[in-house]
Amino acid sequence: TETFGAEFLVRWLAAVAETVDREADRLTELDSAIGDADHGANLKRGFAAVTETLAKEPPVTPGAVLTTAGRHLISTVGGASGPLYGTLLRRAGKTLGEEETIGRVRLAEALEAGVAAVAQLGGAQVGDKTMLDSLVPGVEGLRTSFGAARAAADEGAVGTVPLRARKGRASYLGERSVGHQDPGATSSALLFSTLAETAGA
Ligand code: ADP
Ligand code: MG
Ligand code: MG
Repeated sequence: TETFGAEFLVRWLAAVAETVDREADRLTELDSAIGDADHGANLKRGFAAVTETLAKEPPVTPGAVLTTAGRHLISTVGGASGPLYGTLLRRAGKTLGEEETIGRVRLAEALEAGVAAVAQLGGAQVGDKTMLDSLVPGVEGLRTSFGAARAAADEGAVGTVPLRARKGRASYLGERSVGHQDPGATSSALLFSTLAETAGA
């Protein structure tokens, strides 16, 4: 089975930065409906900083790529999503430790640990209309294939539309949050679609 090293993860995160840049207006539009209209700008700034750092000094292990990326997201993104995505990647990176090459299933395990850390930090669970609604099915799908991860994460993001937000800014709206897709779940789905693209799946 196929394995990959640090370079694969650098390419993934560069692709995420590109995609977030392209989709920033849409993410901000979603956040303007149930938040404060900054999700696109937040992620654009964060992933641009990540890409710049990784290009300058590419870490040699997959774990170090994710840890470095997570640290930069935490320090450059002011909103809730920065610490949450930062924690996702940092915890995943720590889980991989010094491993030099990893496979898809190992990446899924590491991201699963990251998702658990996100749930702990934010106190949310699946169904609360947050990024977890896409991250949880996404990492589960990744155990099967890159394509399954993308499909499950997309489905999870779309599935936030009828939900009422119980965490984050959108929760202040109560019932009025129903009928809108969660911006964080939408950006989380982009993580998995770019991962599948990077893997050529
Ligand atoms: P802010 O809400 O601070 O402006 P962003 O707009 O960048 O931050 O991110 C908003 C997204 O963060 C939401 O759409 C949601 O998916 C996610 N989010 C907010 N709070 C939480 C939480 N406690 N747990 C998980 N995800 C959360
Ligand atoms: Mg916002
Ligand atoms: Mg904000």
